Amino acid sequence: MLDRMSGDAGAGAAVKADCYGLGVSICVPTLVEAGCRNFFVANWDEAEELSHYVAPEQIAVLQGPVTPQEADFAKASGILPVINSIHQAKLWTKAGGGTCHLMIDTGINRLGIAPSDISDPAIAALDIDVAMSHLASADEDGPMNARQLALYRECLGSVRHKRESLANSAGIALGMDYAFDLTRPGLALYGGIARPELEGRIKQVAYIKACVLQTRSLKAGDAVGYNGEFVASEPMRVGTISIGYADGFLRARGPGEAFMFEGKRLPLLGKVSMDMVVVDLAHAPEVKEGDWLDVPFDLLNAARQSSVSQYELLTVLGRRLRHWS
Ligand SMILES: *Cc1c(COP(=O)(O)O)cnc(C)c1O
Repeated sequence: MLDRMSGDAGAGAAVKADCYGLGVSICVPTLVEAGCRNFFVANWDEAEELSHYVAPEQIAVLQGPVTPQEADFAKASGILPVINSIHQAKLWTKAGGGTCHLMIDTGINRLGIAPSDISDPAIAALDIDVAMSHLASADEDGPMNARQLALYRECLGSVRHKRESLANSAGIALGMDYAFDLTRPGLALYGGIARPELEGRIKQVAYIKACVLQTRSLKAGDAVGYNGEFVASEPMRVGTISIGYADGFLRARGPGEAFMFEGKRLPLLGKVSMDMVVVDLAHAPEVKEGDWLDVPFDLLNAARQSSVSQYELLTVLGRRLRHWS
Protein backbone atom coordinates (compact mmCIF):
# COMPACT_ATOMS: atom_id res chain seq x y z
CA MET A 1 0.00 0.00 0.00
CA LEU A 2 2.75 2.43 1.02
CA ASP A 3 4.74 1.61 -2.12
CA ARG A 4 1.67 2.20 -4.30
CA MET A 5 0.96 5.53 -2.62
CA SER A 6 4.39 6.89 -3.58
CA GLY A 7 4.48 6.22 -7.33
CA ASP A 8 7.92 5.28 -8.68
CA ALA A 9 9.68 5.87 -5.38
CA GLY A 10 11.07 2.75 -3.75
CA ALA A 11 9.77 1.90 -0.29
CA GLY A 12 12.51 1.46 2.31
CA ALA A 13 11.80 0.47 5.89
CA ALA A 14 12.67 1.85 9.32
CA VAL A 15 13.49 -1.30 11.30
CA LYS A 16 15.07 0.32 14.36
CA ALA A 17 14.13 -0.70 17.90
CA ASP A 18 13.71 -4.35 16.83
CA CYS A 19 11.16 -3.36 14.18
CA TYR A 20 9.33 -1.14 16.66
CA GLY A 21 9.13 -3.99 19.14
CA LEU A 22 7.66 -6.61 16.80
CA GLY A 23 10.91 -8.51 16.11
CA VAL A 24 13.53 -8.18 13.37
CA SER A 25 13.58 -11.96 12.85
CA ILE A 26 9.88 -11.96 11.86
CA CYS A 27 9.47 -8.59 10.17
CA VAL A 28 12.66 -8.22 8.12
CA PRO A 29 12.33 -11.45 6.09
CA THR A 30 8.72 -10.43 5.37
CA LEU A 31 9.86 -6.99 4.16
CA VAL A 32 12.59 -8.56 1.99
CA GLU A 33 10.01 -10.86 0.43
CA ALA A 34 7.83 -7.81 -0.29
CA GLY A 35 10.73 -6.25 -2.23
CA CYS A 36 12.25 -3.89 0.33
CA ARG A 37 15.98 -3.27 -0.23
CA ASN A 38 16.75 -0.26 2.00
CA PHE A 39 16.68 -0.68 5.76
CA PHE A 40 17.21 2.00 8.41
CA VAL A 41 18.35 1.36 11.97
CA ALA A 42 19.35 3.80 14.71
CA ASN A 43 22.73 2.47 15.81
CA TRP A 44 25.55 0.04 15.05
CA ASP A 45 24.42 -2.73 17.42
CA GLU A 46 21.09 -2.83 15.58
CA ALA A 47 22.93 -2.83 12.25
CA GLU A 48 25.02 -5.83 13.24
CA GLU A 49 21.91 -7.83 14.17
CA LEU A 50 20.20 -6.80 10.94
CA SER A 51 23.20 -7.93 8.89
CA HIS A 52 22.19 -11.55 9.63
CA TYR A 53 19.14 -10.95 7.41
CA VAL A 54 20.13 -8.49 4.67
CA ALA A 55 23.26 -7.47 2.75
CA PRO A 56 25.36 -4.81 4.51
CA GLU A 57 25.03 -2.25 1.71
CA GLN A 58 21.23 -2.34 2.22
CA ILE A 59 21.60 -1.18 5.83
CA ALA A 60 21.82 2.49 6.80
CA VAL A 61 22.68 3.61 10.35
CA LEU A 62 20.79 6.81 11.12
CA GLN A 63 22.95 7.96 14.03
CA GLY A 64 26.09 7.67 11.90
CA PRO A 65 29.63 7.12 13.19
CA VAL A 66 30.09 8.85 16.55
CA THR A 67 33.57 7.45 17.23
CA PRO A 68 36.52 6.42 15.01
CA GLN A 69 35.79 2.81 16.05
CA GLU A 70 32.28 3.05 14.62
CA ALA A 71 33.62 4.53 11.38
CA ASP A 72 36.13 1.65 11.18
CA PHE A 73 33.35 -0.87 11.84
CA ALA A 74 31.25 0.67 9.06
CA LYS A 75 34.16 0.51 6.63
CA ALA A 76 35.01 -3.09 7.53
CA SER A 77 31.41 -4.36 7.51
CA GLY A 78 30.14 -2.54 4.43
CA ILE A 79 27.17 -1.16 6.40
CA LEU A 80 26.47 2.42 5.28
CA PRO A 81 26.65 5.32 7.73
CA VAL A 82 24.27 8.25 7.54
CA ILE A 83 26.54 11.28 7.94
CA ASN A 84 24.96 13.88 10.23
CA SER A 85 27.70 16.46 10.81
CA ILE A 86 31.02 17.78 9.54
CA HIS A 87 32.67 15.85 12.39
CA GLN A 88 31.06 12.60 11.17
CA ALA A 89 32.05 13.39 7.56
CA LYS A 90 35.68 13.74 8.63
CA LEU A 91 35.54 10.52 10.70
CA TRP A 92 34.17 8.65 7.69
CA THR A 93 36.73 10.04 5.24
CA LYS A 94 39.56 9.27 7.71
CA ALA A 95 38.32 5.67 8.03
CA GLY A 96 38.65 5.28 4.27
CA GLY A 97 35.32 6.71 3.16
CA GLY A 98 33.27 5.29 0.31
CA THR A 99 29.51 5.27 -0.24
CA CYS A 100 27.50 6.86 2.56
CA HIS A 101 24.21 8.69 3.06
CA LEU A 102 23.68 12.27 4.25
CA MET A 103 21.04 13.61 6.66
CA ILE A 104 20.17 17.28 6.19
CA ASP A 105 18.32 18.92 9.10
CA THR A 106 15.61 21.08 7.53
CA GLY A 107 13.85 22.07 10.74
CA ILE A 108 13.44 19.22 13.21
CA ASN A 109 16.63 20.45 14.93
CA ARG A 110 17.55 17.01 16.13
CA LEU A 111 20.13 15.25 14.01
CA GLY A 112 21.63 16.14 10.63
CA ILE A 113 23.81 18.71 8.96
CA ALA A 114 22.61 22.31 8.97
CA PRO A 115 21.75 23.71 5.52
CA SER A 116 24.39 26.40 6.10
CA ASP A 117 27.11 23.70 6.43
CA ILE A 118 26.18 21.79 3.31
CA SER A 119 28.87 23.33 1.11
CA ASP A 120 31.63 22.53 3.57
CA PRO A 121 34.58 20.78 1.84
CA ALA A 122 34.21 17.82 4.24
CA ILE A 123 30.68 17.26 2.88
CA ALA A 124 31.70 17.91 -0.73
CA ALA A 125 34.32 15.16 -0.38
CA LEU A 126 31.69 12.51 0.43
CA ASP A 127 30.39 9.86 -1.97
CA ILE A 128 26.70 10.25 -1.15
CA ASP A 129 24.03 7.77 -2.22
CA VAL A 130 20.88 9.05 -0.44
CA ALA A 131 20.65 12.72 0.56
CA MET A 132 17.79 12.67 3.03
CA SER A 133 15.89 14.84 5.46
CA HIS A 134 13.25 14.08 8.11
CA LEU A 135 9.86 15.74 8.63
CA ALA A 136 9.10 17.07 12.10
CA SER A 137 5.30 17.29 11.87
CA ALA A 138 4.18 15.13 8.96
CA ASP A 139 1.33 13.81 11.12
CA GLU A 140 -0.12 17.33 11.38
CA ASP A 141 -1.41 19.87 8.87
CA GLY A 142 0.33 23.20 9.10
CA PRO A 143 3.03 25.27 7.44
CA MET A 144 5.94 23.11 8.64
CA ASN A 145 5.70 20.37 6.00
CA ALA A 146 5.79 22.69 2.98
CA ARG A 147 8.53 24.75 4.62
CA GLN A 148 10.73 21.68 5.12
CA LEU A 149 9.98 20.45 1.60
CA ALA A 150 11.10 23.75 0.09
CA LEU A 151 14.28 23.92 2.17
CA TYR A 152 15.09 20.27 1.38
CA ARG A 153 14.76 20.95 -2.37
CA GLU A 154 17.02 23.97 -2.05
CA CYS A 155 19.68 21.94 -0.22
CA LEU A 156 19.62 19.15 -2.81
CA GLY A 157 21.01 21.62 -5.36
CA SER A 158 24.11 22.18 -3.23
CA VAL A 159 25.32 18.63 -2.71
CA ARG A 160 26.29 15.78 -5.04
CA HIS A 161 24.14 12.71 -4.44
CA LYS A 162 22.41 9.83 -6.22
CA ARG A 163 19.02 9.40 -4.51
CA GLU A 164 16.64 11.58 -2.50
CA SER A 165 14.45 10.64 0.48
CA LEU A 166 12.15 12.67 2.73
CA ALA A 167 8.96 10.83 3.70
CA ASN A 168 8.30 8.72 6.79
CA SER A 169 4.90 6.97 7.12
CA ALA A 170 2.96 10.20 7.58
CA GLY A 171 5.02 11.90 4.87
CA ILE A 172 3.88 9.30 2.33
CA ALA A 173 0.28 10.32 3.04
CA LEU A 174 1.16 13.97 2.30
CA GLY A 175 1.28 13.13 -1.41
CA MET A 176 3.62 12.61 -4.34
CA ASP A 177 5.57 15.84 -3.76
CA TYR A 178 7.07 14.17 -0.72
CA ALA A 179 7.92 10.81 -2.33
CA PHE A 180 11.25 11.55 -4.14
CA ASP A 181 13.28 8.35 -4.90
CA LEU A 182 12.94 6.46 -1.65
CA THR A 183 10.50 6.52 1.27
CA ARG A 184 11.29 5.50 4.85
CA PRO A 185 8.10 4.26 6.51
CA GLY A 186 8.28 2.74 9.98
CA LEU A 187 5.06 2.95 12.01
CA ALA A 188 2.73 2.14 9.10
CA LEU A 189 4.63 -1.10 8.37
CA TYR A 190 3.67 -2.28 11.83
CA GLY A 191 0.01 -1.31 11.57
CA GLY A 192 0.18 2.25 12.92
CA ILE A 193 -2.05 4.94 11.44
CA ALA A 194 0.02 8.12 11.25
CA ARG A 195 -2.56 10.26 9.41
CA PRO A 196 -6.30 10.02 8.65
CA GLU A 197 -5.52 9.30 4.95
CA LEU A 198 -4.08 5.96 6.07
CA GLU A 199 -7.18 4.89 8.01
CA GLY A 200 -8.84 1.94 6.28
CA ARG A 201 -5.71 1.39 4.15
CA ILE A 202 -3.25 0.26 6.79
CA LYS A 203 -4.39 -2.86 8.63
CA GLN A 204 -3.52 -4.10 12.08
CA VAL A 205 -0.60 -6.52 11.63
CA ALA A 206 0.28 -7.50 15.19
CA TYR A 207 -2.17 -9.37 17.38
CA ILE A 208 -1.60 -10.29 21.00
CA LYS A 209 -3.19 -13.12 22.96
CA ALA A 210 -2.92 -13.85 26.66
CA CYS A 211 -3.79 -16.92 28.67
CA VAL A 212 -6.40 -17.28 31.43
CA LEU A 213 -4.50 -18.35 34.57
CA GLN A 214 -7.40 -18.65 36.97
CA THR A 215 -11.11 -17.94 37.31
CA ARG A 216 -12.87 -17.03 40.55
CA SER A 217 -16.19 -15.87 41.97
CA LEU A 218 -16.48 -12.59 43.81
CA LYS A 219 -19.07 -11.63 46.42
CA ALA A 220 -20.55 -8.15 46.63
CA GLY A 221 -17.93 -5.96 48.33
CA ASP A 222 -14.86 -7.96 47.18
CA ALA A 223 -12.09 -5.72 45.79
CA VAL A 224 -9.78 -6.60 42.87
CA GLY A 225 -6.04 -6.06 42.55
CA TYR A 226 -3.63 -3.55 44.05
CA ASN A 227 -5.33 -0.84 46.10
CA GLY A 228 -8.70 -2.48 45.49
CA GLU A 229 -9.67 -0.01 42.84
CA PHE A 230 -12.52 -2.15 41.57
CA VAL A 231 -15.13 -3.31 44.08
CA ALA A 232 -17.85 -5.81 43.08
CA SER A 233 -21.35 -4.49 43.67
CA GLU A 234 -22.87 -7.94 43.23
CA PRO A 235 -21.65 -11.54 42.88
CA MET A 236 -19.62 -11.98 39.68
CA ARG A 237 -17.16 -14.29 37.94
CA VAL A 238 -13.74 -12.93 36.96
CA GLY A 239 -10.62 -14.24 35.24
CA THR A 240 -6.93 -13.55 35.90
CA ILE A 241 -4.99 -13.12 32.66
CA SER A 242 -1.26 -13.60 32.10
CA ILE A 243 -0.18 -10.21 30.75
CA GLY A 244 0.90 -7.05 32.54
CA TYR A 245 2.87 -3.88 32.27
CA ALA A 246 6.18 -5.76 32.11
CA ASP A 247 4.88 -7.18 28.82
CA GLY A 248 4.09 -3.68 27.56
CA PHE A 249 0.43 -3.74 28.58
CA LEU A 250 0.76 -0.49 30.51
CA ARG A 251 -1.31 0.74 33.44
CA ALA A 252 -2.54 3.49 31.14
CA ARG A 253 -4.31 0.72 29.18
CA GLY A 254 -6.54 -0.15 32.11
CA PRO A 255 -9.50 2.17 32.42
CA GLY A 256 -12.37 1.42 30.06
CA GLU A 257 -10.44 -1.25 28.16
CA ALA A 258 -11.72 -4.76 27.45
CA PHE A 259 -10.18 -8.07 26.40
CA MET A 260 -12.14 -10.22 23.93
CA PHE A 261 -13.11 -13.90 23.84
CA GLU A 262 -14.71 -15.08 20.60
CA GLY A 263 -16.04 -11.57 20.01
CA LYS A 264 -17.36 -11.08 23.56
CA ARG A 265 -16.19 -8.07 25.58
CA LEU A 266 -14.48 -8.76 28.89
CA PRO A 267 -13.87 -5.41 30.64
CA LEU A 268 -10.71 -4.91 32.66
CA LEU A 269 -11.12 -4.61 36.42
CA GLY A 270 -8.80 -2.62 38.67
CA LYS A 271 -5.14 -1.87 38.16
CA VAL A 272 -2.88 -3.60 35.65
CA SER A 273 -0.21 -5.57 37.58
CA MET A 274 3.31 -6.38 36.39
CA ASP A 275 2.37 -9.86 35.13
CA MET A 276 -1.44 -10.02 35.34
CA VAL A 277 -4.75 -8.31 34.78
CA VAL A 278 -8.24 -9.29 35.95
CA VAL A 279 -11.26 -9.22 33.64
CA ASP A 280 -15.02 -9.49 34.08
CA LEU A 281 -16.31 -12.79 32.64
CA ALA A 282 -20.02 -11.83 32.72
CA HIS A 283 -20.31 -11.91 28.92
CA ALA A 284 -18.44 -15.20 28.52
CA PRO A 285 -19.31 -17.58 31.38
CA GLU A 286 -17.80 -20.45 29.34
CA VAL A 287 -14.23 -19.10 29.71
CA LYS A 288 -12.01 -21.51 31.67
CA GLU A 289 -8.41 -21.72 32.82
CA GLY A 290 -6.07 -22.26 29.87
CA ASP A 291 -8.24 -20.37 27.35
CA TRP A 292 -6.64 -17.57 25.33
CA LEU A 293 -8.08 -14.06 25.15
CA ASP A 294 -7.47 -11.37 22.53
CA VAL A 295 -5.62 -8.37 23.97
CA PRO A 296 -6.96 -5.08 22.56
CA PHE A 297 -4.15 -3.88 20.30
CA ASP A 298 -5.72 -1.88 17.50
CA LEU A 299 -3.06 0.85 17.68
CA LEU A 300 -5.23 3.84 16.84
CA ASN A 301 -7.92 2.93 19.38
CA ALA A 302 -5.39 1.85 21.99
CA ALA A 303 -3.56 5.18 21.62
CA ARG A 304 -6.81 7.14 21.97
CA GLN A 305 -7.92 5.11 24.99
CA SER A 306 -4.60 5.37 26.84
CA SER A 307 -3.07 8.66 25.61
CA VAL A 308 0.11 6.68 24.88
CA SER A 309 1.42 7.16 21.33
CA GLN A 310 1.15 4.34 18.79
CA TYR A 311 4.97 4.35 18.58
CA GLU A 312 5.31 3.82 22.32
CA LEU A 313 2.58 1.16 22.50
CA LEU A 314 4.62 -0.89 19.99
CA THR A 315 8.13 -0.28 21.29
CA VAL A 316 7.30 -1.11 24.94
CA LEU A 317 6.11 -4.63 24.03
CA GLY A 318 8.01 -6.97 26.32
CA ARG A 319 10.38 -9.81 25.63
CA ARG A 320 8.13 -12.31 27.40
CA LEU A 321 5.64 -12.22 24.53
CA ARG A 322 6.40 -15.10 22.19
CA HIS A 323 5.91 -15.05 18.42
CA TRP A 324 3.59 -17.74 17.16
CA SER A 325 2.93 -16.58 13.56
C1 LIG B 1 12.12 6.46 12.59
C2 LIG B 1 12.41 7.19 11.34
C3 LIG B 1 11.61 7.00 10.21
C4 LIG B 1 10.29 6.24 10.24
O1 LIG B 1 9.30 7.08 10.80
P1 LIG B 1 7.77 6.62 10.99
O2 LIG B 1 7.12 7.83 11.52
O3 LIG B 1 7.78 5.50 11.96
O4 LIG B 1 7.28 6.19 9.66
C5 LIG B 1 12.02 7.58 9.03
N1 LIG B 1 13.15 8.35 8.98
C6 LIG B 1 13.92 8.58 10.07
C7 LIG B 1 15.13 9.43 9.94
C8 LIG B 1 13.57 8.02 11.28
O5 LIG B 1 14.32 8.27 12.37
